[in-house]
Amino acid sequence: MAVRLFNTLARAVQDFEPAWKEEGLVTLYTCGPTVYNYLHVGNYRTYVFEDVLKRALKLHGYKVRHVMNITDVGHLTSQADEGDDKLELSAKREGKTAWQVAEFYTKTFLDDIKTLRIDFAAQPDPKREVRREPADILSYATAHIPEQTAMVDALSAKGYTYETSDGIYFDTAKFPGYAKLAGEAHIAGIQEGARVEMGEKRRATDFALWKFSPPGETRQMEWDYRGRKGFPGWHIECSAMAKTYLGDTFDIHCGGVDHIPIHHTNEIAQAECASGKRFVRFWLHGEFLLVDANKMSKSDGTFITLADLAKKGFDPLDFRMCCYTAHYRKQMDFSWEALDAAKTARSRMRERFIEGKKLPAEPRDPAALAKARAEFSEAAGNDLNMPQAVAAVNSALGALKSSADLAEFAAHADSVLALGLLEESALDAEEQALFERYAAAKKAKDFAASDALRKDLAGRGIKVKDSAQGSSWSRS
Ligand SMILES: [Zn+2]
Repeated sequence: MAVRLFNTLARAVQDFEPAWKEEGLVTLYTCGPTVYNYLHVGNYRTYVFEDVLKRALKLHGYKVRHVMNITDVGHLTSQADEGDDKLELSAKREGKTAWQVAEFYTKTFLDDIKTLRIDFAAQPDPKREVRREPADILSYATAHIPEQTAMVDALSAKGYTYETSDGIYFDTAKFPGYAKLAGEAHIAGIQEGARVEMGEKRRATDFALWKFSPPGETRQMEWDYRGRKGFPGWHIECSAMAKTYLGDTFDIHCGGVDHIPIHHTNEIAQAECASGKRFVRFWLHGEFLLVDANKMSKSDGTFITLADLAKKGFDPLDFRMCCYTAHYRKQMDFSWEALDAAKTARSRMRERFIEGKKLPAEPRDPAALAKARAEFSEAAGNDLNMPQAVAAVNSALGALKSSADLAEFAAHADSVLALGLLEESALDAEEQALFERYAAAKKAKDFAASDALRKDLAGRGIKVKDSAQGSSWSRS
């Protein structure tokens, strides 16, 4: 059965096959975070959608070569190439260097995606070449400056750029395909609605490939290029790093829908004008997570992080479950009630699989198992239809009567869902925090505290045991 995906470029669901069919290898690029702040759960909805894509491809027998970037320089506060660098701004606010800010928020991002069970095991030192081999490659913008300036050079040599006093710009009038991802009407709207200061740009859609450091100012992050200090524009990193690891043309590029009109449109322009080839075969975009019909934002207090979920006793996997209640191309409303419902749904689903372990293994029912597996695979490959996939899990729970069949199905489904379906003993975030406090109190010989915590845990059905190696727990 074929994998079908909605391709933003074609505005249609299409059958998907990788270009490297013989190897069964999919080349995938996903836009990573700008590491100047914590990410909110709306951002993480996009990472969960991309993870489901990667896992669904693997379920359908493909291997994946995946590049994700870390934007640690050059993302300005304004989309119009004006304003401050977000990293340098955070550095001022936090009294750190821009490099320290990048390191700190990269680490929190990587910790967060681990708790969300995002399937990404970055290689420590990937070779900077196109290989027909699966890999997870985390690529930092600041570590790929020569690749980016090489692409700017290639574009300049072909006449696609012009220089102003503050940078080197891409001349969008020279690329007839500029509107192909976002649509002519949308791009015309950007041109007409340009009330922003255009500076020396020729058109509102033209964008900076490279910015010169402002005269008389020393930036924390700047490099020599064309005889001056400067730094890359935001879009060039993705095109240059995708080319480095995946080649001029690759299979799938993903991101949030907000990237369609500017960031991804500009990526296509740079990459295709530099190489003369098609950049990406399939573009996939995840919709927003909304709070009260608006995007999450700091200013109106709707900026919710994974740490905020943990404080309220939610496991990151409850959020994963919550993401499965809507299709990735539909906007989804976030509420604590919806998250609570997802938490209950996930724990009921797990309980049913765990209960199923007590059933006899025989007789097995190969036909029912094959049907259940196929229904789940079909849903996952049907443009990542997770509401349908969750329904397939529920019908499998009703149809399968052997513990061996149930265990095999759970492993199959959980390779995409990543909800810990057979993990009997996992503590939720709140229980884990209590247990850690207990272990610390015990170690510190604070018996009053450890006794109180032991009782609290026992009330939740968790028994603690202590030995010379430390404390452990089990469900009673
Ligand atoms: Zn990008």
